[in-house]
Amino acid sequence: MDDTPDNHPESPRDHAVVLGGGLAGLLAARVLAERFARVTVVERDELPTEGPAFRPGVPQSRHAHVLWSRGVEVIEELLPGITDKLLAGGAALLDSPKDFLWLSPADWFRPVPGARILLGSRELLDWTVRGEVLRERRVRIRDGCSAIGLVGGPDGRSVTGVRLRGADPLRAAFVVDATGRTSKTPSWLAELGHRTPQTTRYDSHLGYSSRYFTIPSDPARRWHGLYVQGRPDSPRGGVLVPVDGERWLATLIGNGEHAPPTGDEEFLGFARGLRSPAMYDALRGATPLSSPTGFRGTANEWRHYERLTRGPAGFVVIGDAACRFNPVYGHGMTVAALAVAALRKEIHSMDTAAVPAAAARIQRRTAAAAEAAWQIATSEDLRYPETEGPPADRTTRVLQRYMSRVMVGANTDPAIAGRFFGVLSLSTPPNTLLGPSTMLRVLSKWRTPTAPPTTAYPAHHGPP
Ligand SMILES: Cc1cc2nc3c(=O)[nH]c(=O)nc-3n(C[C@H](O)[C@H](O)[C@H](O)COP(=O)(O)OP(=O)(O)OC[C@H]3O[C@@H](n4cnc5c(N)ncnc54)[C@H](O)[C@@H]3O)c2cc1C
Repeated sequence: MDDTPDNHPESPRDHAVVLGGGLAGLLAARVLAERFARVTVVERDELPTEGPAFRPGVPQSRHAHVLWSRGVEVIEELLPGITDKLLAGGAALLDSPKDFLWLSPADWFRPVPGARILLGSRELLDWTVRGEVLRERRVRIRDGCSAIGLVGGPDGRSVTGVRLRGADPLRAAFVVDATGRTSKTPSWLAELGHRTPQTTRYDSHLGYSSRYFTIPSDPARRWHGLYVQGRPDSPRGGVLVPVDGERWLATLIGNGEHAPPTGDEEFLGFARGLRSPAMYDALRGATPLSSPTGFRGTANEWRHYERLTRGPAGFVVIGDAACRFNPVYGHGMTVAALAVAALRKEIHSMDTAAVPAAAARIQRRTAAAAEAAWQIATSEDLRYPETEGPPADRTTRVLQRYMSRVMVGANTDPAIAGRFFGVLSLSTPPNTLLGPSTMLRVLSKWRTPTAPPTTAYPAHHGPP
């Protein structure tokens, strides 16, 4: 054993280790520092030091990332003042659908208030969060350092550290896996003789392709972001959002054989074939700043660590490592933040020494943060025939039909739009939409078709 402070013979009891310095890991480190004297974040990438920059461990950062209002609020609670810092860095806080040109699977949303949404580059978000978390002196990051396994306690029922590539193991009383979608925890647990979690998976085979642009400014433009959604009979869509002031990020999406191309030439052609020409019209005079980048592997996947009856003490899994979502609903970061808020609530009044033994309860509480987003993503994905996963049950099918009506209502009735975006932003639970007053409003639109022919632009926009 080496003699670094991490491995001081007395210190593991006051030491927590977080694997992965992405959003979930950094926020978790901040919260654990309220209970542990030292928190070490182990991050495989060498982290940028000069400012926000791409890094290979977060390849999804090249695709549009929106942070819904609930996520903004929770991150602000964990790191007071961060929203202003993000805005100073170039992020934008908009109202959706008010500030967007947004074509839903039914029709265009009117420009009415709904939910706040933070738009900016994922690199800016991670950079700003990291800077704020590292203001806490109990937290330090070991970057350029890969976790390769867990250290089991002598009792065979606990995790007491982490194995690192090319370095001595790190001893800790509490270990959090936040290594994201590539987490190796199931095999690490198996190596220690523990059970591995059941997995539930729904894959709609959604593909992404994204490209940065500059778009000539246009004083007549009345929108700040654009979203053309696909639907099962036309499963292609696109998002266009501003990133950090100067640039725009265009993300094209499509299911199965409709996955968007990653060639320079074909990108614009795909945009032209969407349900509305709005995205094509916005991009055809724009200057590309990059080639398109693709992303596949967008399945919803829940590793049910919360169901393990004899999971090890001193170990919890959060963020995408535990549950990831089809990214098209924009929920992953908000759920990661909600899970960390649940972790904070659980350990708030605990002695440090009691935290490791509470791992199973913490795992259940943090997992619960994923439920609403999981329900939304999987029931919507099950509308697509390409989707692989457990089939929709009767309740899901009834809810899908009702949600089609909610969508029609949200396109025409500002009150329904407000409640719909409350749910989509994870600010209010999905059953809000089943309240009697909402149901009455929704069902009063029963004659309006749920998949009307699409107009190129909404009436409130006028011609391009
Ligand atoms: C295409 C796409 C678009 C998305 N769009 C949105 C969106 O609009 N809104 C939204 O809220 N969410 C979105 N998401 C989801 C969001 O990116 C994730 O939910 C979020 O990044 C989860 O954070 P995390 O910290 O769990 O994982 P990550 O951010 O992926 O971080 C994991 C970290 O662990 C590190 N790591 C991995 N293995 C090791 C190891 N062995 N040792 C040490 N470090 C390791 C990685 O380098 C990385 O830094 C999108 C996802 C994708 C794929």
